[in-house]
Amino acid sequence: MDIDEFKKHGHRLVDWMAEYMGSVGKLPVRSQVKPGQITDLLQEKPPKKGESMDSILEDFETNILPGVTHWQHPKFFAYFPANSSPPSVLAEMLTATLGAQCMMWQTSPAATEMETRIMEWLSEMIGLPNNFSGVIQDSASSATLCALLTAREKITGWAVNKSGFNAENSKLIVYTSEEAHSSTEKGAKIAGFGRDNIRFIRTDSQFGMCADTLRAQILSDLEQGAVPTCVVASIGTTGVGAVDPIRKIASVCEEFDLFLHVDAAWAGSAMILPEQKAMADGVELADSIVINPHKWLLTNFDCSAHFVKDPEALVRTLTILPEYLKNNESENIIDYRDWSIPLGRRFRALKLWFVIRYYGVEGLQEIIRKHIKLASQVEEWINRSSNFELVTPRSLSLINFRFLPEHNGKFLDIDELNLKLLNELNDSGSVYFTQNRVRGDFVIRWSIGQTNTELRHVEDAWIQVQKIASSLN
Ligand SMILES: *Cc1c(COP(=O)(O)O)cnc(C)c1O
Repeated sequence: MDIDEFKKHGHRLVDWMAEYMGSVGKLPVRSQVKPGQITDLLQEKPPKKGESMDSILEDFETNILPGVTHWQHPKFFAYFPANSSPPSVLAEMLTATLGAQCMMWQTSPAATEMETRIMEWLSEMIGLPNNFSGVIQDSASSATLCALLTAREKITGWAVNKSGFNAENSKLIVYTSEEAHSSTEKGAKIAGFGRDNIRFIRTDSQFGMCADTLRAQILSDLEQGAVPTCVVASIGTTGVGAVDPIRKIASVCEEFDLFLHVDAAWAGSAMILPEQKAMADGVELADSIVINPHKWLLTNFDCSAHFVKDPEALVRTLTILPEYLKNNESENIIDYRDWSIPLGRRFRALKLWFVIRYYGVEGLQEIIRKHIKLASQVEEWINRSSNFELVTPRSLSLINFRFLPEHNGKFLDIDELNLKLLNELNDSGSVYFTQNRVRGDFVIRWSIGQTNTELRHVEDAWIQVQKIASSLN
């Protein structure tokens, strides 16, 4: 493709992108296709000869787009948001254009130095003290895995890295709560701890980890000759948005010399609000923290901010230095390839730099505050309604609720009734919610956080929830 042709299609595409951003609210939120429907529309064999951009774009619009679930739809209330913003999209265009592979300082000094600076910004924004160093990982899952690996190596004096597991270090224990995200279990499996060596600590009535139970479990493991190694605590669990008591957990970790990693993948973005800082009380005592700007900070997926207190331990855990990666620079440079699992790295700092500069800290605070306010409005509606119940206390912009009709007609099984309600809502295409189980009960999870979600979107959704619910009963 020559430059003139690129320009022509580029301008057309930017027009398409702007049009999409303005009208995505009219599309079905959750794709309504059936499994295999898109496969059938994709050519079975790669084309021998190149095709025109016109025909590629036309196929994209007519065949592919219907198979896309629109995460940037203002009535996307499923999972957690993976929100985005125009400045972030523009930065991604530049990142793609530069096509730089930023594995080390030398392969793109600006990417490395901007990453360091932007992580300093973010650290200050969420209120961490300045003894943390940051790195951008591809996902919270990777950050948690890196933390688990560091904990494993620290406690064994880097022996597993050298010789693998043996009889003495085969019983390293990881502690997390029964509400923790599955990435902790996955990370512990990958890092070789073994599923049997993960302790899922009981949670209290607010779904936070019981620090006393944690302590008792550590004592019992020590008695059995096991080696307590790491605690993964959460600020904002995925199911109900629970917050573990970080300060209490940190003091248990200190008592037994355990590594503490804090998973604040979603709720961490709200730590930029002074009025929400209480939930992070004690976070400065952690060894490692992850928050996902790609969830709730207007930055396109993927961009996960990982802060560590002892970067040397992380680097010592992950470093490798074959001849072909050696450089002849001074000692004072950072090679982020040694801070994460993949060697190759995208220029991820750029989009976060665009976003923070464009909105400013106050602009970002306003948007997150707006989402929390919308959720508290929904909370009020649910509390006022005699046919719906808030199943867990609202956490920031996350709500778990269910239909619990005063006069239960046809349906005696409330779980079944709510599953039907959820399916009908999502099949309608105008909203998208996901499900959860809370202490055994099937509930609907309403998570607010798409950049452009406004009061009218949650009002519409609430009207629809009530309408479909009453038609079912
Ligand atoms: C979303 C989420 C994760 C996983 O995030 P990825 O970046 O997709 O790996 C981990 N922990 C919590 C609490 C989450 O909400």
